[in-house]
Amino acid sequence: MNKPVLYIVIPCYIEEEVLPITAPEFKKQIDSMIADELVSKDSKVMFVNDGSRDKTWGIIKDLSKQDPVFKGICLSRNRGHQNALLAGLMEAKELSDITISIDCDGQDDITAMTQMVKEYHNGCEVVYGVRSKRETDTFMKRFTAESFYKLLASMGAEVVFNHADYRLVSSKVLKEFANFKEVNIFLRGMIPLVGFKSTSVYYERHERIAGESHYPLSKMLALAFDGITSLSIKPIRIITGMGIIVAFLSFIMLIYTFIRYFMGATIEGWASTSSIICFLSGIQLISLGVIGEYIGKIYMETKARPRFIISERTDDQE
Ligand code: UDP
Ligand code: MG
Repeated sequence: MNKPVLYIVIPCYIEEEVLPITAPEFKKQIDSMIADELVSKDSKVMFVNDGSRDKTWGIIKDLSKQDPVFKGICLSRNRGHQNALLAGLMEAKELSDITISIDCDGQDDITAMTQMVKEYHNGCEVVYGVRSKRETDTFMKRFTAESFYKLLASMGAEVVFNHADYRLVSSKVLKEFANFKEVNIFLRGMIPLVGFKSTSVYYERHERIAGESHYPLSKMLALAFDGITSLSIKPIRIITGMGIIVAFLSFIMLIYTFIRYFMGATIEGWASTSSIICFLSGIQLISLGVIGEYIGKIYMETKARPRFIISERTDDQE
């Protein structure tokens, strides 16, 4: 059997402190997998420099000069973690059989890759790395991160709980994923849309080795917002729902004001004014929701996502 070529894809943004520590770890992991005959000798570690202002790119170039196992690509400017990762994966899909994406800060257990590759050999095309514990995260980080997953799930975005972007994806899946042409990307929610056989591998999350997180609360919120709005049009549905409820309430209010009016217990003008306000606000919300529905449809259409994906063909087996 031909052993698969593995590319470990690592986005890096201002990581000059971390790279010299973690790069050898990645190499060690690849060497051990080559020794175990799990992956091909041509497997590589590929760094994506996401427009860092520090010496990150210089370090990557030096690494690749010292050891052919290291490779790198450099983005023209900072485009954010998701875009950097996408760039790396799209580059790697032509050169490899499988890719594993991971952060470069050593927080995710690098040795879990062995298990991921074993799952690939068992027939899985996608293997999600899931954090089993978050004890080393600060309370704030854990709380915000876990609320983030719950919010996403309640909004109908299908994500694996406590899975970030540490995962194995085969090139076969990536080639299909390349047809998802949207600009707002949220990889961990989009990879499940591609389908194929998948599973999860559990690992413990450590503290950052050096440097600091580039995911402050503001970026996390932006990611959550992107995640929801790029995967679902549920927020629009909520407006429609609210409209229906308000219209219904205003209907009851209308009956109530009529009763009060005929009992003669109202101030002049109150009945008509309050009825109009209630009724119109209900109608307005419903209308907004209906307009939103159409915008939602247009939004989904403009993505021009593939409508189906063929995972295998009988012709595949020679
Ligand atoms: N990163 C990136 N571009 C950015 C921000 C972050 O490529 O604009 C990379 C960063 O180098 C790291 C990964 O994304 O490898 C995750 O970032 P970080 O560790 O800061 O986030 P956290 O683990 O705290 O969520
Ligand atoms: Mg990190």
